[in-house]
Amino acid sequence: MSSAWDQQAPRYAEVLLPLPLDTPYIYALPENLRVQATVGMRAQVPLGNTTRVGIITALREQSDVRQIRPLERLLDDAPLLGEGLLSFYAWLADYYFAPLGSVLDLALPTGLLLPPGTRVFLGMMGKKVLDGFPMSAAWGLDAKEEKLLLKLLGVLRKSGPLPLGKALPGGLTEARLRQWAAAELVMLKDERNPFAVKTERVYQWNEEAEPPTARAKKQRDIWAYLQECPQKTSSRAELLQHFPSCQSSLKAMVNKELVLEDQRECLRSPLSTQLLHEGDEDNATLTLTEEQQRAVDAILPALVQPDTPFLLHGVTGSGKTEVYLRAMEACLSRGKQVLMLLPEIALAPQVVTRLRARFGPRVAVWHSALSHGERRDEWTRILRDEADIVVGARSAIFAPLKKLGLIVVDEEHEGSYKNEEGVYYHARDMAVMRGRIEQAAVVLGSATPSVESINQVRLKRYQRLSLRERPGTTVLPQVDTVALPYATKEDNLLSSELLLACRQRLSRGEQAILFLNRRGFSPYIFCHGCESPVQCPHCAVSLTYHRIQGKLLCHLCGFASPVPKHCPSCESTELELKGVGTQKVEDEISQSFPEARVARLDRDVLGRKGELTRLLQEVRAGDIDLLIGTQMVAKGHDFPGVTLVAVLNADQSLHFPDFRAGERTFQLLTQVSGRSGRRDIPGQVLIQTDSPDHPAIRCAVELDDKGFYKEELKARHALGYPPFTRLALLRIESRDEQQAGEVSHHLADALRSLVHKQNLEGKVFVLGPASAPIAKIKDTFRFHVLVKSPTVRALRSLLKQAKVRELLQGGKEVRIRLDIDPVHML
Ligand code: ADP
Ligand code: ZN
Ligand code: ZN
Repeated sequence: MSSAWDQQAPRYAEVLLPLPLDTPYIYALPENLRVQATVGMRAQVPLGNTTRVGIITALREQSDVRQIRPLERLLDDAPLLGEGLLSFYAWLADYYFAPLGSVLDLALPTGLLLPPGTRVFLGMMGKKVLDGFPMSAAWGLDAKEEKLLLKLLGVLRKSGPLPLGKALPGGLTEARLRQWAAAELVMLKDERNPFAVKTERVYQWNEEAEPPTARAKKQRDIWAYLQECPQKTSSRAELLQHFPSCQSSLKAMVNKELVLEDQRECLRSPLSTQLLHEGDEDNATLTLTEEQQRAVDAILPALVQPDTPFLLHGVTGSGKTEVYLRAMEACLSRGKQVLMLLPEIALAPQVVTRLRARFGPRVAVWHSALSHGERRDEWTRILRDEADIVVGARSAIFAPLKKLGLIVVDEEHEGSYKNEEGVYYHARDMAVMRGRIEQAAVVLGSATPSVESINQVRLKRYQRLSLRERPGTTVLPQVDTVALPYATKEDNLLSSELLLACRQRLSRGEQAILFLNRRGFSPYIFCHGCESPVQCPHCAVSLTYHRIQGKLLCHLCGFASPVPKHCPSCESTELELKGVGTQKVEDEISQSFPEARVARLDRDVLGRKGELTRLLQEVRAGDIDLLIGTQMVAKGHDFPGVTLVAVLNADQSLHFPDFRAGERTFQLLTQVSGRSGRRDIPGQVLIQTDSPDHPAIRCAVELDDKGFYKEELKARHALGYPPFTRLALLRIESRDEQQAGEVSHHLADALRSLVHKQNLEGKVFVLGPASAPIAKIKDTFRFHVLVKSPTVRALRSLLKQAKVRELLQGGKEVRIRLDIDPVHML
């Protein structure tokens, strides 16, 4: 008998699986699921002879596919992903020539799309056994099994439920485990959510019980404490904190049923554990400067009716964050959600702290350093509407917000927004697209916007909001150049001008930052026999000497070796450490200023969790006089006492084989200069360079960003580089150099002949193949073929005609990857 419902309810579902596939598969909806099934829910489906989990992307009345298998079950009660988000995934997949299923795989936390499994929990009887209850003969255990059981129960109590597979140690069969489950020693549950749930034990005041006797002092204290707790419940961890060594009293109280024990799911908050060390200052009551107010006034209407994205172009220290925060407040008060992207969350604890200070636990943090469990918890909080602000690094662009009202991309010029594994997407560009699809306002902010974004302003596709001044009395620093002290000796980057400036600052109790983008002690070890630096055996780069580890290290592959006595290629013993890295500067500075507190910030320092936060905190508190660091010191920190910033070698980044070398140098110099003089004392910046007339350096010194963008745009136009052309970089890689070269040649030839056939001459240009600037990494040889076109349409048309998608899939020996709008050309 079929009801009216059946006729209306769809009979088929398209399910997208997290596999490199473009299209979803069709499954028949069993009658009992037809009403419930909704786009965006997870569904468990058969595929071949396996079971998979995917997302329902469409529901259909009809299907012309034959032999449709039934969908097995739905894993959610409500959609996990909104339709807007699904359209966004589809757009992204199409733009980057990536399989839609791969985008899904990338977007969702690991484990969310695994088939649900059976999990083993501690059973009622198991608990008692752990607490000393004797084994029952009825369970029929031999000595060995008793041991196994006790061990398993112990693990379950200590670390929570286990997947079935992991709960079967040597010798234990599933059948036997099921018998234990029947005896309530363990409990088997089929979980819908395949994440390992982290639980904690909680204790509740039992209202029906008599209070403990006066003699049991500790029990009375616990009893009184529990009565004061919200809901008269407290976690074991909290209790242990208040009453160290209360375990036995607790156990006694549980046995007497004075308190009730339970398990509760606990969500880990990465914020509370890592990022809340700094004082939660908040300045919600701050009066905005006129410029800030104008920017906010421009953004607010866009929260109602989004138009073109905004480019918040504000000099360092101009108070961009406050503008974001006001826009966020307005967005939340309209009942909409906020997504904020930061280039590297570990380097931005202040922004997160300020968000947290103003919005409290409504902030969810999302970045790649979160454990799977933490990610799942943050997802859960978003899905339960407990968090309506998501702040995170590039992958947060996929966050499952369903009522998105505002997307903020801070430091939009940063290269780390480009993902360079799997699907090569650019999170800033995708933020603009997600904003368009989901009708959300988009604010991109930077002191040094990318040339692309500046060009979008020029074309009136973005609206610029300018902050030219710092609030209050803070002024921009005085910037000067100093010739590099190379002429005398290549191994010293500390000019007398620089040392003098440091001495002056130190004598006044002020702080200085010395910036050098090279970690290690000596960046290379030079062989006088073959007249070249000693190279990594696996990569085409030289090895760096790290004195602290006493080793030569490869910064690309991590290869480490003791310092050799002979050159590995010519056996010569005439080896010399050359060049300067941060470790060496630290050494020399400590010698020159023995009384100063010197610290170093680079990737070598970041071994321990929390180390970075601690170091940044110390600099902020004025506990460090001289900070030496790589680009990590250039990011948006606000160090009140720093009045001198010195760039030890500004020419270093100018000579990169990349058309963006000038842009990056300008950005780096401007950003690092911005760390100087952020309070009342005017700041000073010294830039050591031998090319003071290069536009990137000259404009950074003169604080002339308009001038820089004008010259840079002119140069890009003349050379036919973005933003005047669009690029697609085909990256060809193989362990076999010859094969990689051959494939590259074939590829380039095929593309060229296609250009000819399609009459795209003069519209699309194919360059290469050429060896990549770093020709070998981890024993893999690398080649580039670059496709270039003034229009994205012609470029895409060629790539489609070339069936580039198929090329990307085939070939085990040689891997081809497609990088649309490449950012790093190395
Ligand atoms: P940016 O991100 O543009 O480099 P920040 O947002 O870090 O700048 O702001 C720099 C400093 O100025 C911060 O200490 C901030 O608290 C302060 N600030 C921002 N807006 C104002 C204002 N309207 N009045 C006074 N101080 C402000
Ligand atoms: Zn040699
Ligand atoms: Zn290497």
